[in-house]
Amino acid sequence: MPESLENPNEVPPEDEALVEALAVILLADMTLSVIKSRITTLLAPLGLDKDAVAEATNLAMNIPRDYEPMKVGNGTAKASIRTKLIRIRAGYLLKASRRLSAGIKDVPLKEKRNKLAREVTRESKYFKLHQQMQRKRIQAAKDVDRMAKVYGDVLGWLSLPGGPRSEICQKANGHNFKVSEMPAIGFPGAVHLHCRCIAVAPWAGASLLP
Ligand SMILES: [Zn+2]
Repeated sequence: MPESLENPNEVPPEDEALVEALAVILLADMTLSVIKSRITTLLAPLGLDKDAVAEATNLAMNIPRDYEPMKVGNGTAKASIRTKLIRIRAGYLLKASRRLSAGIKDVPLKEKRNKLAREVTRESKYFKLHQQMQRKRIQAAKDVDRMAKVYGDVLGWLSLPGGPRSEICQKANGHNFKVSEMPAIGFPGAVHLHCRCIAVAPWAGASLLP
């Protein structure tokens, strides 16, 4: 799975406006068919296959209730992650549309339906990973909020040994971060699929993560 798919801060600059617009459509109170046609129209200038975009939309439209930004809870980790979840889902939709469209490019018309079905099966696996990451983000935010109740707004980052540790997690290890200002890499526990980072009491004299 492409890593850039999952980092909320790694939407390429040229895609940012599209991702924002997709996020708004995904949360809009409209019927599925209206949402689909809005997305098709929005993505039309990209020249993607319409059936591919429709299939990607089918996957991405399954929006849990807790993707909606919270009206209260300012300063909590949960509130900040909830402003990101829909944007990450929108980024997923854009990438899935491109992948599915590329998968059926130049396929003869009579084979297109079958080929697209196979591509959708593969894409569903990516989508499951994406959902897993989103659940990790929500859980990480809850864990961080629980620690903030004990130690306040500044917490320490601890990367636990014993699992696959990414370079990002190892670099964050031993630094502090602010709960009210989500670090660029997200909260501990949700940097990547196997992230085993946790929030702990703030480290004395440690610098804040950007
Ligand atoms: Zn980690």
